[in-house]
Amino acid sequence: MIDYTADWQITGHAWAVRHIARSLSNDRIRHAYLISGPAGIGKTTFARNFAMAMNCLSKEKRPCGVCRACQLIREDHHADVNIIQGEGERLKVDQVRALQAQLSMRPVEGRYRVVILRRFHTATAEAMDALLKTLEEPAPAVLLLLTADTTDNLLPTIRSRCQPINLRLLPVPLVRKLLEEQHLIKPEQAALLAALSGGRPGWAVRAAGDETVLGKRSEWLKQLEDALSMSRVGRFGLAEQISKDKDTLRQMLELWQSYWRDALHMANTTVTPITNRDHDHALRQIATKVQVDDILKALNAVQRTAKYLDENVNTRLSVEVLLLDLPRLRLNPAPPGMVG
Ligand SMILES: [Zn+2]
Repeated sequence: MIDYTADWQITGHAWAVRHIARSLSNDRIRHAYLISGPAGIGKTTFARNFAMAMNCLSKEKRPCGVCRACQLIREDHHADVNIIQGEGERLKVDQVRALQAQLSMRPVEGRYRVVILRRFHTATAEAMDALLKTLEEPAPAVLLLLTADTTDNLLPTIRSRCQPINLRLLPVPLVRKLLEEQHLIKPEQAALLAALSGGRPGWAVRAAGDETVLGKRSEWLKQLEDALSMSRVGRFGLAEQISKDKDTLRQMLELWQSYWRDALHMANTTVTPITNRDHDHALRQIATKVQVDDILKALNAVQRTAKYLDENVNTRLSVEVLLLDLPRLRLNPAPPGMVG
């Protein structure tokens, strides 16, 4: 009897691991899964472990993490496991067609051909249409793993043909433990990064290894807070500036969502721990001076704009509308010694 739960190399998401392990034990694996959840939450790591469990050579536990198949998959060198993601901004129909040619062939060395289609929320309508055919007529010994930050804009027919695995944010202490124990980050730094990550281990690990991640975060929050005191003209100027690079904008909007969620929490309760705790001073002013309805309006505007990014909507126009939907207020600077 093979144990499928033992060695998934992933932090958190235990219920999802158990779910897949149970399906593997019962030989009831579906041919397509849609793994969704916020950026940096561990979707690709989950998919890679899933691919390892499918092709691991161990007779006792899968994935074992040490056999040749597991090692090759971890390094993205396994002949039967491919990761495909958008070139530039979006996943294109040509990439799906190239994939279909591959899928018509038998696995080379593994039991299954596994294709991980990363960031499928960026797929063009043509690419989604093309993939639909593959989902409708699954080839034997093929497993498709789609990952998506959001499933809102996926064709309903794609969603209905995939088994959904919706990954949730991890508890902050678990992210902190991961940073300290597996990445040897000092406790104080680990605590800060874990909190700022809002439960996204991938983001926290990236931020620990790359100073520019935190630098960008500060810059994006400053742009948001500056925007609040700006006139219409100023906001139009900012819209032009930040709508140039969609990928950056996507990350920025994700951060802004967490900011407005913090403001909402603060307006509703005094005890909820917030994500952007280094901006506590500014958030507290927003929570006390801005009506809850207007905070909600700002949050909805950011969410709506993030969704539009993956649709054929004029980016600059939608960012202009977003910025005009933000409340107008001048924030007092933080007292010396405090950030934000
Ligand atoms: Zn193995």
